[in-house]
Amino acid sequence: MSARVNPRRVRRLKDSHPGPGPVVYWLSRDQRARDNWALLHAQDLALEAARPLAAVFCLVPTFLGAALRQYAFMLRGLAETAHTLAQHHIPLLLVQGRPEEEIPRLLTALRARVLVTDFDPLRIKREWKAGVLAQVELPVLEVDAHNIIPCWLASPKQEWAAYSFRPKVRRALPEFLTDFPELLPHPHRLGPPDPWPPVEDLLRSLPVDRSVAEVPKPLPGEAAAGQALTEFIARRLSRYPQDRNDPGKNGQSGLSPYLHFGQLAPQRAAWEVFRAEAPPEAREAFLEELIVRRELSDNFCYYQPRYDEVAGFPDWARKTLDEHRSDPREYLYSLEELEAARTHDELWNAAQREMVLTGRMHGYLRMYWAKKILEWSPDPETALRTATYLNDRYELDGRDPNGYVGIAWSLGGVHDRAFAERPIFGKIRYMSRQSLARKFDLRDYLLRFAS
Ligand SMILES: Cc1cc2nc3c(=O)[nH]c(=O)nc-3n(C[C@H](O)[C@H](O)[C@H](O)COP(=O)(O)OP(=O)(O)OC[C@H]3O[C@@H](n4cnc5c(N)ncnc54)[C@H](O)[C@@H]3O)c2cc1C
Repeated sequence: MSARVNPRRVRRLKDSHPGPGPVVYWLSRDQRARDNWALLHAQDLALEAARPLAAVFCLVPTFLGAALRQYAFMLRGLAETAHTLAQHHIPLLLVQGRPEEEIPRLLTALRARVLVTDFDPLRIKREWKAGVLAQVELPVLEVDAHNIIPCWLASPKQEWAAYSFRPKVRRALPEFLTDFPELLPHPHRLGPPDPWPPVEDLLRSLPVDRSVAEVPKPLPGEAAAGQALTEFIARRLSRYPQDRNDPGKNGQSGLSPYLHFGQLAPQRAAWEVFRAEAPPEAREAFLEELIVRRELSDNFCYYQPRYDEVAGFPDWARKTLDEHRSDPREYLYSLEELEAARTHDELWNAAQREMVLTGRMHGYLRMYWAKKILEWSPDPETALRTATYLNDRYELDGRDPNGYVGIAWSLGGVHDRAFAERPIFGKIRYMSRQSLARKFDLRDYLLRFAS
């Protein structure tokens, strides 16, 4: 059988002698059975060598401030993935603890042939991977199963903004934006796997913050993700350019939690939208966000190690923020006041409450929300810490490159340009409550999330 995965999607992280056992796929960012280039590549290698194929997930007890809400969404999705994989005779094994210890232990126990893993630009994931690489003696391969254009190929450097990244994306898209082949029932079996533990038991075993409760919507998992995509294309894609920025309308896709947890491949969403019957400007507007903006976030986090610090802001932005460091602040709020949505601004409070109650905040309001945190904090460092903490604690899609970049765009001009100078913000783009009120009818939104 010929290889189903473009070899340019695959990088060799370690060269060594293959073991006699199964091919193992360590899934981390891309937690799905279908439309997964890393899994497909692992299956190709296993078929070629006539070996079994196993997948493994390493559950860490704490992860960048994730609470019950995010763990529950992830674990319910993984239970579905385990079920689908089992139907294809691929066990999904669960290990718990530090990946640097647990993954090598499992590979040794299985005498694994090759390790395949997915790509993630975030620091913690890169540290895990480096730890695993230092412990194992077998070939290790990395496949970018998240970006349509593999991050390291899309651009060799940190991009300045969307305008410099877009032409590179356009050039590479015809090679990479394709449909996916099917995952095959695997002919070589590893033996019956332990059943996937009940989600409630796993959740009980975790030391996570239970005060950030699960949300009833969206439903987790690959099937629900597919339905959400189909429904968006059928009902809302055509009006995406007109409706997406209006907090009073349900104009966005709502796909970000599925994309974040890898329950939906961005490439599946792009492929279906690319072929959908919708006005070309609607398809283009959506693909600009889904491909250019999203993959630009990965580019930033991959090439800028300080992606969640003021030190990662561009020079002009750091300079202008410094020049306005001592400007008087009309309002100063503590983290507790912000978290409890107790500011003088009812729109900000409504946005904060939307996030706390539903696990999402409307995309347009996220910019306003973050910029006001800059305006009401004693300094940019505190503002960045506060925005990241709240975003990652309450958003279902938090702890994502899109989040770090969204916050860095709002507070620190990342991927943006300089604007007319004003207090506190310096040359960072400002957003006012008045301009939002002029553009949109916010009465319904304010009523929905009133205190
Ligand atoms: C302060 C701030 C914080 C943010 N925090 C997060 C976060 O934690 N997680 C997260 O996934 N996104 C974050 N974003 C980016 C964006 O707001 C969300 O991706 C989007 O609102 C999610 O809703 P949706 O899937 O319905 O988006 P849609 O409008 O339907 O877009 C489809 C997809 O395109 C991508 N996309 C859309 N807008 C952007 C953008 N501005 N930058 C990069 N990719 C984008 C996302 O993958 C999104 O799911 C943040 C933005 C800001 C300004």
